[in-house]
Amino acid sequence: MPKDEWKITDHVCRICFGRVLARGTQARCADCGTEVEGGHRHLCWCGAKLRDGKDARLRCKRNTEITPELPMEVIVVCIDKPVAPVRKRTRPARVSGGGWFDV
Ligand SMILES: [Zn+2]
Ligand SMILES: [Zn+2]
Repeated sequence: MPKDEWKITDHVCRICFGRVLARGTQARCADCGTEVEGGHRHLCWCGAKLRDGKDARLRCKRNTEITPELPMEVIVVCIDKPVAPVRKRTRPARVSGGGWFDV
């Protein structure tokens, strides 16, 4: 695989819940296009902080049981309450092929 290719990760964007892509030290949201330096944690929920700067204890997680209510491949869970995924507020159009991204 060429070095400059974006690779899809099991992380989702903090802004729009789009899938996070990674390339070297860069991370990019496949949906809203936000790009950050320094890795996916700067863009995905794993790096989310509370207002006081503490770890929000949220983690991106691959959805192992896809249901109509929770059709996303990657969900966000609170590591204190692993059964309560963060709900997506708006559903993006699903692209053919089943992904949440179009590259
Ligand atoms: Zn995004
Ligand atoms: Zn993450």
